Amino acid sequence: MHVLRVDMRFAGQRPADGPAVHMNLYLGALSMNGQVCGSDWPIVIENGCCVATVLAPAADSLDERYHGTHVRQRIAEAQQAGITFAWSVIGEQSDSAQACGCADPSAFLLFTTYLTVESPVQCMDCFGVVPLYRFTAPPDADFYDVMSWQSNYQSCDQLQMNCTVLEQAATRQMSAVDSALSAAGRSCCATLSERAGKPFYYYLYRGKPPRCPGSAATLSGLRCIMAFARDTAWNVRFPVRPVPAIVEPCL
Ligand SMILES: [Zn+2]
Repeated sequence: MHVLRVDMRFAGQRPADGPAVHMNLYLGALSMNGQVCGSDWPIVIENGCCVATVLAPAADSLDERYHGTHVRQRIAEAQQAGITFAWSVIGEQSDSAQACGCADPSAFLLFTTYLTVESPVQCMDCFGVVPLYRFTAPPDADFYDVMSWQSNYQSCDQLQMNCTVLEQAATRQMSAVDSALSAAGRSCCATLSERAGKPFYYYLYRGKPPRCPGSAATLSGLRCIMAFARDTAWNVRFPVRPVPAIVEPCL
């Protein structure tokens, strides 16, 4: 991830509704399009103008070629109020996750934890993080469904880690194929897979050994890709987790 500075500039007088309103609307739209990570961005007033510091997946994440419909709408509304935005790169975050640099990944994985700030999509070739805007949202849409799933998953993961309130219920949501959380995640996988034209996999947390409804002896009924559990790269990537089961999104 990269740390970016976003400057607001006024063509005329400061707008009556407060400059931070337009800055927050702009950054919120960027966040829902995957161009900004998370929803926390400190804003300061510098020489009468708003200046925000944001985390972005890459140095060029705020480039207009990645803008979706909603981002363009927020920019147009700001321009009508005499406001424009400019951005510059402060630098690469020192301890951020590795970004995917593959030109054409063969497959993707939907995975997050309660600590994740970046995109929940990983490349299955290099396990690097893939920005959501690379899966171009259709007109008048953004990545709300993926953001919603990620927020719900992280809430469950946090409850499980705290081991006090709703631990069992949260663990079931993360580990059961038929839970509401898993269904939402696999739906996201199906949507993104269709846009990318590539296979998309869903990480199913293995709190207990998974059971197949078709056979207690084999996982083939769930079409689990257990080969990945034996893959060296996979086990290095998830060193503190139980062996994961990955279920194809078409179930
Ligand atoms: Zn990659």
